[in-house]
Amino acid sequence: MDNVIDLRSDTVTRPTDPMRAAMARADVGDDVFGDDPAVNALQERVAELLGFPAALFVSSGTQSNLCALLSHCGRGDEYLAMWDAHLYTHEGGGAAVLGGIQPQPLPDRGEGTIDLADIEAAVKPDDPHFARTRLLCLENTHGGTAMAPEQLRAATALARRHSLATHLDGARLFNAAVAGGGDPRQGARRIAERFDSVSVCFSKGLGAPVGSALLGSREFIGEARRWRKALGGGMRQAGVLAAAASYALDHHVERLAEDHANAALFVEAVGGAKGLEVGAARTNMVFARAVAGVTPPDLVERLAARGVLCTGGRPYFRFVFHLDVSRQDAERAAIVVRQTLADATG
Ligand SMILES: *Cc1c(COP(=O)(O)O)cnc(C)c1O
Repeated sequence: MDNVIDLRSDTVTRPTDPMRAAMARADVGDDVFGDDPAVNALQERVAELLGFPAALFVSSGTQSNLCALLSHCGRGDEYLAMWDAHLYTHEGGGAAVLGGIQPQPLPDRGEGTIDLADIEAAVKPDDPHFARTRLLCLENTHGGTAMAPEQLRAATALARRHSLATHLDGARLFNAAVAGGGDPRQGARRIAERFDSVSVCFSKGLGAPVGSALLGSREFIGEARRWRKALGGGMRQAGVLAAAASYALDHHVERLAEDHANAALFVEAVGGAKGLEVGAARTNMVFARAVAGVTPPDLVERLAARGVLCTGGRPYFRFVFHLDVSRQDAERAAIVVRQTLADATG
C-alpha cells in the first residue's frame, strides 16, 4: 500500500539518499584486520563524543549488549536489570545461553523508575549459595521514558559502593539526551559518563540501516572484540555501514526533537478518542490502551487496513515516531485512529 504510516518502531526507517551516497563513498578495508578507515573513524569519533577511551562497531544492539555482558561477567556471575529490560527480556536469553550468566530482574516502580532499595536488596553476599553479583544494567530511554539524572547518579553510585560494574543500554541514548534539553551531544555524554560501558544504536531513531556501538575502557573493548568475533560479528568491509552511522551522527541527532514533537502532537490530536486511553508522549513513543468495544489485535488489524501500522495489545498499543514520519503523517495517523475507533465502537 502507498503512503503507509509505519509507527511500529523507529527501526523501520530507510536510509535517505544522502545517507546512501555517504555509504557509497565510504573508504573501506577489512575490519577484522582493523583496516577499515570508515569503521575506525566512527569508533574514534563516538568514543570521543561520549567520553570513553574506546569503542567497537557491532552489528546490532543485541550483539552490543551481549558482548558487554560476556565481557563484564563470567560463568556463574549475575547481572541486575529491570524485569522488562531489553537485554534481559528481548534478546533471546543470550547471556544465559552463551555465558552461563544469571539475570536478577528488578521490579519497575512505575514509568520505568528503579528503586535504590531494590538494587541494594538484590546484591548478593559473598556466599557459595549465591551467584556473584557483578553488574548493574540500566536502560535509557526505557519504554520511551528518559531516566531522571538524579536517579542515574544515585543508582550508578550505589553500584560502585557495592563494587559492581555498570552498563547502560542506551539504544535510544540520544532520545534521552534530547529530552533532557540543551545540547544533545553534551547531554548524551553526561549520561554515558556515569557508566563503565554503554551501548548505543544507530539503527533506531538515528536512522542508519544497521549497527550499534559499544563503548568502554581499552581493556574492556579488547575483550568485547574477542566476543564479537566468537559471536560471528567480525565484519569485513563494514565501512559502508559505519559510514551510514557517521552520517546519522552528523545529521540525525538534533532532529530527534521533531520525533518527540510529533509524538506529542499525535497524543493531542487523538486525545479523547472513544475507547482508547492514551498516555502522555514519552520521547518518541506513545502508549495507549483499549478500554472498551475493540479487542487489541482487532484494532491493530483495523488500523493496518487503513494504512497506519502500530504494535500492541499486550496490553498497550505502541506508536513510535521517527525519521520517516512527518508532522502531516502524525496528524493523519491521529485522524485514522479516531475514525477507526469511532467505527469500531459504533
Ligand atoms: C532495539 C533495542 C535493543 C537491540 O537492538 P537491535 O539492534 O534490535 O538488536 C537493545 N535495547 C533496547 C532498549 C532497544 O530498544
